[in-house]
Amino acid sequence: MHEMSVALSVVDQVERAARPGGAHGVRRVVVEIGELAGVVPDALAFCFELACAGTLLEGAELATRFLPGRASCAPCGRTWDTGMPPDMLCAVCRGGAGELLSGRELRITEVHWSASPTTPDPTPVPQPEES
Ligand SMILES: [Zn+2]
Repeated sequence: MHEMSVALSVVDQVERAARPGGAHGVRRVVVEIGELAGVVPDALAFCFELACAGTLLEGAELATRFLPGRASCAPCGRTWDTGMPPDMLCAVCRGGAGELLSGRELRITEVHWSASPTTPDPTPVPQPEES
């Protein structure tokens, strides 16, 4: 399933971003999905839950933001919603091939980290030197 590989890659990227910041957990991840990206938001949410199990992201909520496909025509300057499957032909020029402006997006736009329950002392306890 395509959504599963996307979910695993989202989890992987968030975990990698979490390490340097010393995050304790993730509350929420926001992903932008273009209409033409070929990802079904519901299926992605389902796979995301599975992909999060046993990771830093366990219990995190996935929010998806839908971006419609948009195309423009260079000769006449018209822009339109492409729909799905995408309609790339300009209705004014009749057959003029449009250029895709947006709709292929698939990216993490926000990660909300969990606040750490306690603030651990970052200073290591000095060990008595043996002589
Ligand atoms: Zn046109």
